[in-house]
Amino acid sequence: MENKINYRPTKAVIDLQAIHQNIVSLRQHLQPNVGIIAVVKANAYGHGDIEVANTAINAGATMLAVATPDEAVHMREHFKYIDILVLGATPSSFIPYASKENITLTVFSEEWMEQAKQYLPLSNQVKLHLKIDSGMGRIGVTTQEELVMLYEAIQNSEHFIVDGIFTHFATADEEDNGYFEKQVCLFKELLNALPEKPRLVHVANTATTLVKEPSLQYDAVRFGISMYGLLPSPYVGELLPFPLKPAFSLETQLVHVKKLKAGQSVGYGANFTAEQDCFIGTIPIGYADGMIRRLSGQEVLIGGGRAQIVGRICMDQSMILMKEAYNIGERVLLIGRQQEDEITIDDWASKLETINYEIPCVITGRVPRMYKN
Ligand SMILES: *Cc1c(COP(=O)(O)O)cnc(C)c1O
Repeated sequence: MENKINYRPTKAVIDLQAIHQNIVSLRQHLQPNVGIIAVVKANAYGHGDIEVANTAINAGATMLAVATPDEAVHMREHFKYIDILVLGATPSSFIPYASKENITLTVFSEEWMEQAKQYLPLSNQVKLHLKIDSGMGRIGVTTQEELVMLYEAIQNSEHFIVDGIFTHFATADEEDNGYFEKQVCLFKELLNALPEKPRLVHVANTATTLVKEPSLQYDAVRFGISMYGLLPSPYVGELLPFPLKPAFSLETQLVHVKKLKAGQSVGYGANFTAEQDCFIGTIPIGYADGMIRRLSGQEVLIGGGRAQIVGRICMDQSMILMKEAYNIGERVLLIGRQQEDEITIDDWASKLETINYEIPCVITGRVPRMYKN
């Protein structure tokens, strides 16, 4: 895993040791014989899927989960033997690949089974996980009848194996347990309607794993956000069973420094005007890197202190207001820790009125991911 040369100093630094540690901590928290499905969809939440998956496997993950068939192909090209589950819908045209390369698919409709038939002559067996929609309202069967019919359709075809069954919770990260309990109940009811329990029953995302009843860990948990050292919600943070280490930092360097006289302005729209003489630094990161314009006003860490992003964020560059004239090449941390001070993904999320999940995902591919072991 080689770090390719990038000439622009802007980069995301991913601490793989932190990811490793988060998984080891999780393992100690799990019931005996519970597997870990490392959720590496969306380029491992923007952290880099190959490196994260490699770290997760070394730390004890037993399966990888991705969202799309294309992500599964990408994973299989790098990892020959680990089980890979596609959590989302897959076109049946993917069956020959899934069969050849041992990709486990999610199934939730008889229509899909019907369409699947035309691809079966081209395939050997395909492993399937049944998806129950217990209240997320996204994909999955919602009734016993649907589930049993689907199960039988699969059992009746020698091409398919029912390898697992799962559901996903909409409110596991919230304090109020009402809706969550309803989902659990419906899932159990449907699970009991099957003549036989599939090999792998899994319902727990990070929040469920960390703060709910341990029996919900079933045969495996789907570990996503906290593998990356982030909290599913502030509420989960209050009950966290082990400390988390954030893995993602974002940094660049000053490429230009100038003195601005009182009354002079900065950026498109000239919407920041200096009230007194000050120093302005230019950093080579902008909205095309995922640092969207609404982050204007956000602080960065520089030279042991803080500076504020002022003026409109441009596509490729931004300006910061500095107390002193730092040197060109001075390190600027947008997300991360500098001495005792830290700017977190959660700080960005609250500035943008969104959730932490979204932040590393939207740091674009132009920002290289560098890995620290
Ligand atoms: C993304 C996803 C997860 C992971 O959720 P986290 O909150 O990040 O742990 C688990 N299960 C499914 C079905 C998902 O889509």
